[in-house]
Amino acid sequence: MSDPTANFTAPHLLDLPPLTAGRFARIEDKVAALIRTHCDVVVMQGEALLPLEACIRSAVRPGSTALNIITGPYGETFGGWLRSCGAEVVTISAPFTGAADPQQVADALRQHPEIDFVSLVHAEAATGNTNPVAEIGSVVREHGALLMLDAVASVGAEPLLTDEWGVDLCVIGGQKAIAGPAGVSVASVSARAWERIGANEQAPRRSYLSLLDWKERWIDGGRTVLPHAPAQLEMLALEQAVDRIDAEGLDSVITRHRAAAAATRAGVRALGGLTPYVVRDEDAAPAATTLRAPEGVDAREVVAAALAVDATVPLQAAAGTLAKEMIRVNHYGRAADRSVAMASVSALAGGLRARGVSVDADAAAVATGEAWDAVIAC
Ligand SMILES: *Cc1c(COP(=O)(O)O)cnc(C)c1O
Repeated sequence: MSDPTANFTAPHLLDLPPLTAGRFARIEDKVAALIRTHCDVVVMQGEALLPLEACIRSAVRPGSTALNIITGPYGETFGGWLRSCGAEVVTISAPFTGAADPQQVADALRQHPEIDFVSLVHAEAATGNTNPVAEIGSVVREHGALLMLDAVASVGAEPLLTDEWGVDLCVIGGQKAIAGPAGVSVASVSARAWERIGANEQAPRRSYLSLLDWKERWIDGGRTVLPHAPAQLEMLALEQAVDRIDAEGLDSVITRHRAAAAATRAGVRALGGLTPYVVRDEDAAPAATTLRAPEGVDAREVVAAALAVDATVPLQAAAGTLAKEMIRVNHYGRAADRSVAMASVSALAGGLRARGVSVDADAAAVATGEAWDAVIAC
């Protein structure tokens, strides 16, 4: 009989000492510093949709009027939650070839003075655009509404100045640019937001969606006793992800992401066949680039052919209605790297050729490298 443990190396994810309250609080403090906030942060023990839904359900109630700024698929999801909380929803939609317009936000707030909550996605990994949060934040602050920001795809990829921008509820996850775990996520909560949430009878209480439970059971008690067993492995991974960013320097991590977007956009333009969806460079998300497949060519087939050339590159066909047209290059986290940008553009060249599209792979390689180097040099 074979020994079932014969090929079993010592498990290093098991039998860890318990994660203490002190350690948990220190991890929270590190994340707060990363997102530039002095407000409370709540590390919710689930994927980023958990704090996003928690923020909306906590701050919004029947009688609320919310302005939902839609620049991609997450904004659509927020609209559904807002309505299910009983809010009237005013919607602004920006085409995902560009960014939300602060002037349009100001106009909507003027036309609807009753708006008391604004939801905005900072950067959209799915559609490849990023929004001017500083400008929108200042307009919202002047009006007086609460601002919720989904910064899951921007944290670590571009500047995120939660307090300076007047963001009341800032939600991040670890799974994109900070190259960490997907299973714990963070919401920062301003004093104004706590006031609103505390006064909202409909805000979740004694619920996994509750921000107030964390306040009452954890924050208000001085963060000495954890309310329940934490997701220990995910918490430790989040700490390591933030520590690794601090060791590299947040500025250089951000620069790597900016270089990845610039290199991918330049490479593809020199390649031919594909066009970046996002028209202006300043509206392009540093975390991901979205590309339009050539007329009559299925994006999914280009991606499959490109991955057959090089299975390691971060290429993906879009989900949903855009699946036939849109290719995503997910150059976030460790993939925000010069060699990955070069390999991605080269694999796209191979994928396009395999689908009968003629491309200039040599010019693309030169353009990709030069664009990367130009960002890193300045
Ligand atoms: C990735 C992302 C999330 C998290 O959702 P998943 O699809 O589960 O990764 C939330 N918001 C934005 C803007 C994102 O890009």
